[in-house]
Amino acid sequence: MKIAAAVRDRASDTFRIETLELDEPRDDEVVVRIVAAGVCHTDLVSHDRVPLPAVFGHEGAGIVERVGRRVSRVKPGDRVVLSFPSCGACPGCYEGAPYRCDHLAQLAFGGARRDGSSPLKRPSGERVSGAFLQQSSFATHAIATERNTIPIADDVPLELMGRWGAASRPAPARS
Ligand SMILES: [Zn+2]
Ligand SMILES: [Zn+2]
Repeated sequence: MKIAAAVRDRASDTFRIETLELDEPRDDEVVVRIVAAGVCHTDLVSHDRVPLPAVFGHEGAGIVERVGRRVSRVKPGDRVVLSFPSCGACPGCYEGAPYRCDHLAQLAFGGARRDGSSPLKRPSGERVSGAFLQQSSFATHAIATERNTIPIADDVPLELMGRWGAASRPAPARS
């Protein structure tokens, strides 16, 4: 689907709004319409780790639009915050400590999913690094994993929740 996103093209550049193509959600992924996203220092300095062009944003909040076939924790229409990523299948994840995930650095700053693919590209087909902390939420829509998508109550304002996503706790590992 076509989305609008804030793209950083070069380290010397600022963010520019562009039309990008967002992938279809995979079986364990969620498409979220972003309502609010906190702006954190990490978004402004990670261009030295993530290959450019890239879409940053890691404190997103919004409404679920679509879910992959194996997603059961959220459904379309649910209000969610997006948290930090974790693989769900390493010792840290199994111990309930996803912040010690063996794959955290790659999932956060690789500009890609775990398999190396990016969910974002330009209309020309040029790859754009996405999946920043498995969300890249400086955009109208983001693909997140079920693990870092946290349902929240209906009566909390999403515009206040964006900044809390990164601090909330992912789901326990599945066995
Ligand atoms: Zn942050
Ligand atoms: Zn892990």
